[in-house]
Amino acid sequence: SLSERLDSAFKQLKGEGRISEINVASTVKEIRRALVDADVNYKIAKDFTDRVREKALGEKVITAISPGQLMVKIVKDELVELMGGTEAELDIKSTPSVILIAGLQGSGKTTFSGKLANFLKSKKGKKPLLVAADIYRPAAIDQLKVLGEQIGVEVYNEPENKDAVNIAQNALAHAKQNGNNIIIIDTAGRLAVDEVMMTEVANVKAAVKPNEILFVVDSMTGQDAVNTAKAFNERLDFTGVVLTKLDGDTRGGAALTIKYTVEKPIKFVSMGEKLDTLDVFYPERMAQRILGMGDITTLVERAQAQFDEEQAKKLEKKIRQNQFDFEDFREQLQQIKKMGNLKDLMAMIPGVGKAIKDIDISDDAFKGIEAMIGSMTPYERNNPDIIDGSRRKRIAKGAGKDIQDVNQFMKQFDQMRQMMKMMNKFGASGKGLRALG
Ligand code: GDP
Ligand code: MG
Repeated sequence: SLSERLDSAFKQLKGEGRISEINVASTVKEIRRALVDADVNYKIAKDFTDRVREKALGEKVITAISPGQLMVKIVKDELVELMGGTEAELDIKSTPSVILIAGLQGSGKTTFSGKLANFLKSKKGKKPLLVAADIYRPAAIDQLKVLGEQIGVEVYNEPENKDAVNIAQNALAHAKQNGNNIIIIDTAGRLAVDEVMMTEVANVKAAVKPNEILFVVDSMTGQDAVNTAKAFNERLDFTGVVLTKLDGDTRGGAALTIKYTVEKPIKFVSMGEKLDTLDVFYPERMAQRILGMGDITTLVERAQAQFDEEQAKKLEKKIRQNQFDFEDFREQLQQIKKMGNLKDLMAMIPGVGKAIKDIDISDDAFKGIEAMIGSMTPYERNNPDIIDGSRRKRIAKGAGKDIQDVNQFMKQFDQMRQMMKMMNKFGASGKGLRALG
């Protein structure tokens, strides 16, 4: 992966006293190759690494930091700048504001429409109206209706109407009457860029004059994503990009290349199928992610939205004093379950994404663990160290598990506590982690 390649590229620099023409050249080559492997267009990768090289050579080497660290910083800063510097705002000031959603079929438009409505309703206090303008597949209307029901947002649809422009206009009138201050129009997509689809979306654009036209693209589609983005931008002159499916084996490459090619801001990233897994796009975080530093900030934010402050403080204290026990663990499981898909969350921890990409982690995975914790006595839960062989046997029996399951779980729990101890040692640099636990 890109982060692994960058990792090893930087390792080559370790131990060098200063950044020289020679060691930069080999590192830069490695970075370029890694970017290309991650589906970044060759020319863009070359431009990027040229800039990095220039900066690195111009940099005074301070003895306090290693050349490797310095290079990481230069690459990261450059990535951040390339991806837009700061996060981009959504233009939703006028009433009603119209947001048009466009993209290929299967890119995640309908899912994103639901997530965006949910986001605007719950985080921005808006009253959105979802509009089903995918007139080709009856199932598309139902899909949006189901999403709308889940988040308590009205879905405007006309199953008999086969004119997307007309539907959009009617929806606008409906919204004005109904007091909706945001209209999200979910349009039809095709499997490939096609003239009929483009004309239709362009006509909807002309008719409703959207404040925002968001181009939705599956971040796993790599190089193709770039061509699609280009085609849509030439035709629609969209205002922003939404990168979906950033969960799983993420490729930061798409974010980089699309931003570079169409010069439009990436506004949102979508990371999972649950409706509350939408995040504003932060270039800084994406750069960290591409560099394999993990997306701790998002993780912490999501955690903060769920954790109550008191509980978090209590937990932080326990972790700091190395007193984390099974009772805390059980509470954490409850919290995590509220936060969203477990695998998505774990993938945000630095170094973990790679390790778990082939492992199937379902939320049901908790069931066995909860059963095991459940069959411990309160004393055992508070004193994990006293759980010996005979207690394990009893716990296994009570939970309907094998002794091996209990042993394995105890081992994992122990490793977790070791990790927490290590994080405590790191001190300031583990601030975010500590707050999260
Ligand atoms: P549309 O054809 O563009 O409207 O795409 P849909 O919203 O119907 O999504 C296509 C498929 O991708 C569905 O199975 C979604 O559940 C899935 N999907 C959408 N967004 C995400 C995402 O961020 N992550 C993952 N893993 N799946 C997603
Ligand atoms: Mg759809």
